[in-house]
Amino acid sequence: MKLLEDRIERDGQVLGEDVLKVDNFLNHQIDPDLMTALGAEFYARFKDTKITKILTVESSGIAPALAAGMQFHVPVVFARKHKSLTLKDDLYTAEVYSFTKKTANMIAIAQKFLGPADTVLIVDDFLANGQAVEGLIDIIGQADATLAGVGIVIEKTFQKGRKLLDDRHIHVESLARIAAFENGHVVFEQED
Ligand code: 5GP
Repeated sequence: MKLLEDRIERDGQVLGEDVLKVDNFLNHQIDPDLMTALGAEFYARFKDTKITKILTVESSGIAPALAAGMQFHVPVVFARKHKSLTLKDDLYTAEVYSFTKKTANMIAIAQKFLGPADTVLIVDDFLANGQAVEGLIDIIGQADATLAGVGIVIEKTFQKGRKLLDDRHIHVESLARIAAFENGHVVFEQED
């Protein structure tokens, strides 16, 4: 998506070998017009599936997930993160290793917000090693809900998340695909 790639080139900052900082428009300060455009693009890519719910993880997935929800006119549910969980009554939970924080967290969703009648679109800001998405897929399985697909704002194709999802034949749509970071610059995948 050209608009997003241009914004990444303008405002994204490469940190170290594998992290892109996007706090200017996506996960600290948020550009609402850009979010609206991202939501419309997710809608265009998944509109042929009857989606009943959008699922994400707090906090940086919420803005693009809400933007998608506003196009599909369905509820948006975000998993909450906890250091640990002793009381798991009425919750679906999964353990997720955080790529940016290098720690494991529990994520949890109240059971009342997801069930067998739901067809779910997962939306997240980044796809790196796929741990956050795998945790959400686990929760969708616990709820006996159906996974429609995964919508990602920024995918780093050089990390292993995409392959994990492709191997499971999951429909993944990423709005920007980064092939590499070279000398502090972003190299995008060539569209075919
Ligand atoms: P994964 O679980 O796929 O390894 O990583 C995805 C999660 O880690 C995303 O929800 C996102 O919050 C965070 N993340 C992964 N890579 C990056 C990155 O390059 N920049 C930022 N800002 N967050 C990232």
